[in-house]
Amino acid sequence: MSFEFYKPSNIKEASELLKNPGYIAVVGGTDTVVKVRGGFYKALKALVDLNGLFSNEIKVEKDKCIIGSACVMNYIANHPVIKENFPVLAEAAHSLAAVQIRNVATIGGNVGNSSPVGDTIPALYSLEADVNIVSAEGKRVVPINEFITGVGRNVLKPGEMIESFAIPMRKTSGSFQKLGERKALSISKINLGLSYWNDGKPHYRIAMGAVAITVLRVPKAEELLEASPLPLTDEVIKQAAEYAVETAKPITDLRSTKEYRKQMAGVLLKRALNAIK
Ligand SMILES: Cc1cc2nc3c(=O)[nH]c(=O)nc-3n(C[C@H](O)[C@H](O)[C@H](O)COP(=O)(O)OP(=O)(O)OC[C@H]3O[C@@H](n4cnc5c(N)ncnc54)[C@H](O)[C@@H]3O)c2cc1C
Repeated sequence: MSFEFYKPSNIKEASELLKNPGYIAVVGGTDTVVKVRGGFYKALKALVDLNGLFSNEIKVEKDKCIIGSACVMNYIANHPVIKENFPVLAEAAHSLAAVQIRNVATIGGNVGNSSPVGDTIPALYSLEADVNIVSAEGKRVVPINEFITGVGRNVLKPGEMIESFAIPMRKTSGSFQKLGERKALSISKINLGLSYWNDGKPHYRIAMGAVAITVLRVPKAEELLEASPLPLTDEVIKQAAEYAVETAKPITDLRSTKEYRKQMAGVLLKRALNAIK
């Protein structure tokens, strides 16, 4: 297969290129290159390299933590603002692949790939992140829970790119849990992000990946937990876990069976709740 390779020098140029059918954005390349080699893109005409166009830094601006879409996993996992305030995201970024991949795999690429097993996605759901989108025409903001529309599909229109993610700045506790083929270096069979914060009243956000075509929240468990005094009892945690099992609508694929994934949704929620106790 032959295709062109473009290295645009600004966002407008990149956006105009990406309006062409068969033109695919690439940053770290850890998903894209595998897909190109595997013949996934049937009508690939060109790769458009976005390196250098978007920030690879994390900044706190007013009441938001802004994560540039070019931030790589190791940087996110070790960043003091993320470790201190958003442990669910630090753990998710740290859990992804091996250190070599984590040095090039970006958060923009993880969300842009829009896989049901993408590890940072449930973490971003549980933190109520927004996706900042940019194109030659301007900017728009989409909440993460409206960004992904199906397996590998999202709301980006031709010419649009992810500029950054914005997380409301607050101190949360949290836990990211995943089950893979092995303890390390594995794509998730199922994953779960949990965040908790208290701004006068308790808030729990639970987001499960690989249990449906997009990430699922577990509102019944969130409501139960928010109504329960601390410390949470084993009975409350068991009931919340049962709601997670009930909510999960997984499929069987090469990584796992639907029955296993459904049961494990409850196990992962129990582990996450015990981790932040
Ligand atoms: C060996 C291996 C192990 C892996 N393990 C895991 C794992 O455990 N967990 C996990 O979640 N993933 C895993 N991955 C997948 C991959 O590493 C991640 O999804 C990574 O975060 C992708 O980032 P990237 O910069 O390499 O993306 P790229 O490959 O460059 O791009 C991925 C997709 O996002 C789009 N994109 C990238 N940046 C933007 C942007 N700014 N705006 C719009 N669209 C954009 C691209 O067009 C493409 O469709 C693994 C991959 C490999 C090869």
